[in-house]
Amino acid sequence: MNSNKKVVKSIVIVGGGTSGWMTAATLSQQFQNIPVDITLIESSAMGTIGVGEATIPTLRRFYSKLGFTDLEVLNATNATCKLGIEFKGWTGDNSTFIHPFGLFGQEVNHVPFHHYFTKLKQSGHNTPFADYSLGASLAEQNKFFQPTSKPRNQLEIFDWALHFDAGLFAKLMREYSVNNGVTHIDGKIEQVQLNNDSGDIETLVLENGKAVTGDLFIDCSGFSALLIEQSLKTGYEDWSHYLVCDTAVAVQSELVGSPNARTIAQAQKAGWQWQIPLQTRMGNGMVFSSQFINKDEAITTMLSNIDGKTTQEPRSFSFTPGRRKKAWNRNCIAVGLASGFLEPLESTSIALVETAIEKIASFLEQPEYNEEESEKFNYAMAQEYERVRDFIILHYKLNGRTDSPMWQHCRDLAIPQTLTDKMAAFKANGELIRYSWEIFGKDSWLAIFDGLNFNPDSYNKSIDKFSIELLSSELTKMQKNVHDMVNSAQTHADYLKQYCGFKG
Ligand SMILES: Cc1cc2nc3c(=O)[nH]c(=O)nc-3n(C[C@H](O)[C@H](O)[C@H](O)COP(=O)(O)OP(=O)(O)OC[C@H]3O[C@@H](n4cnc5c(N)ncnc54)[C@H](O)[C@@H]3O)c2cc1C
Repeated sequence: MNSNKKVVKSIVIVGGGTSGWMTAATLSQQFQNIPVDITLIESSAMGTIGVGEATIPTLRRFYSKLGFTDLEVLNATNATCKLGIEFKGWTGDNSTFIHPFGLFGQEVNHVPFHHYFTKLKQSGHNTPFADYSLGASLAEQNKFFQPTSKPRNQLEIFDWALHFDAGLFAKLMREYSVNNGVTHIDGKIEQVQLNNDSGDIETLVLENGKAVTGDLFIDCSGFSALLIEQSLKTGYEDWSHYLVCDTAVAVQSELVGSPNARTIAQAQKAGWQWQIPLQTRMGNGMVFSSQFINKDEAITTMLSNIDGKTTQEPRSFSFTPGRRKKAWNRNCIAVGLASGFLEPLESTSIALVETAIEKIASFLEQPEYNEEESEKFNYAMAQEYERVRDFIILHYKLNGRTDSPMWQHCRDLAIPQTLTDKMAAFKANGELIRYSWEIFGKDSWLAIFDGLNFNPDSYNKSIDKFSIELLSSELTKMQKNVHDMVNSAQTHADYLKQYCGFKG
């Protein structure tokens, strides 16, 4: 072993929410045949945050690495299929568009589709962008099938994620981890003791007096950030000057009708409201800026926009958008809410959990680490958070609502230079800048640009050799192709009935 490296013989994970058990599952798989003890401590009395039910497709790759199939997870978590997000009212009350997990159109002669689309639009053609996206069109019609693994062309490419019961998903991960030898302790940590010389975390003392020691600690303690902040005082980069929403209220309700194959993100006067359908219920919530409305107003707005009977009292959550200055500090790595949170828009938090776990697993391929590796981890995590932050800011920056000061305020806010550059390049000629560590692909950016009416002034001029008539007929063929695939697909509800025993 490399002598500069700290050897890891025991890992202690603090927290039994989605992030804690996902981390435990991956590490227990990784160290199945390597002698590393893994312990997870959680306090069932304190509980978990209990929200976080919309995911992006990366989740499916996460659990498939553990050996779970889609149907196993769909069935175990009462999940529905999510093809994307429908944004309602973001450019005015009756506006709507879908951000699908899939591509738009077909590249021709190495020129991306959106250049052809822009040229036709500038010549007066007015077909919706979504008509060229199988994912968006399926979502719009609430239809669903599993994407083919051998697409014949780009029009057939789409992806999907899950709306799931996060508590049931954590249970699935817990069973897997415990079966793989993870020691599970239920108890509240009262004290975190640091080594006097090194400043590293040494011992966790539980309220029953039990002491737990470890070489490496993973802080999945949620917003309390028990180890990384309360003990190690790592510091937090606050992004509330970019992202004004800082509070959410949430409530579950009975499911009315068939579940949508998409999340709904409905813009409201000072925030936006989510609808996340499971097979057995609907998750509802309203995210808002406390500068512009108070909690009671938000609850009233949320409740007046729910179809089914609510099944619990509304709960509220406050957060500061941002990230921990170092996700890995000394012998502690923060994952999940302990490492940062932006806001629920675009369902990025569990995805950032997955990318953190993936990196931890790769840095600990051999159970040892050094400072160089922790710095690389911190750099990559910071980049990922910043890329996601920019993508979320874009939704607010380009909003077209005129009904409240909050939306005007969001349009006026200064944005990061990285986002300014991206928007300027797209505006000029449809160029899509890609930075490293981006979770969202170019078609996601296209969906939001188009949906929020941010159109390029120009396009790749090499396509001027094609006549408008030819382009129009080619695009009509693509549209028909998508239309035919959607027409022949089964409904999302029928898919759930066939494969998950959905009773609705
Ligand atoms: C309003 C809202 C909506 C969201 N929606 C989404 C979404 O749609 N999609 C998405 O991807 N993400 C969403 N998120 C984020 C998502 O909820 C979290 O990323 C996810 O649940 C992971 O949380 P966690 O495991 O880090 O923390 P938690 O669930 O808070 O778990 C913390 C754990 O630490 C334990 N703990 C804390 N202190 C102690 C102690 N002293 N002793 C012992 N144990 C302790 C707790 O008991 C608990 O087990 C949302 C978040 C909010 C606030």
